[in-house]
Amino acid sequence: MTSAPSTDCLFCKIVAGDVPADVVASTDRVIAFRDIDPKAPVHVLVAPREHHGDVATLAAADPALLAEVVQLADRVAGDLADGQFRFVFNSGPRAGQSVFHVHGHVLAGAQLGWTPA
Ligand code: 5GP
Repeated sequence: MTSAPSTDCLFCKIVAGDVPADVVASTDRVIAFRDIDPKAPVHVLVAPREHHGDVATLAAADPALLAEVVQLADRVAGDLADGQFRFVFNSGPRAGQSVFHVHGHVLAGAQLGWTPA
């Protein structure tokens, strides 16, 4: 999967500022913004600015960048909730992935159930 920006990619457009988003935290390489359709009191998407399709592709291409994604997720959970969080990467359409620019879902701010299926 290429790491070049994709003109068809929604999250590349958010990174570029071409599509508005409620950005809650960012670094030089990673951005965190609120999900437009929240599934928990805190539901934030954390994505590398660089385009990678899914989490395994990112892990293979740039493991340090994946670590930065996790670190920013932890910061967001501490800033917006009590520091406890679920961090979900949907990988592939059957797992529920709908945007093919890797992102983790930070879910926090409540006692979470466990009903992924
Ligand atoms: P996925 O299904 O790929 O794991 O997650 C994609 C997420 O992006 C979904 O939870 C969906 O609600 C969110 N989403 C879709 N379009 C937009 C948008 O335009 N802005 C924001 N902030 N989130 C979006």
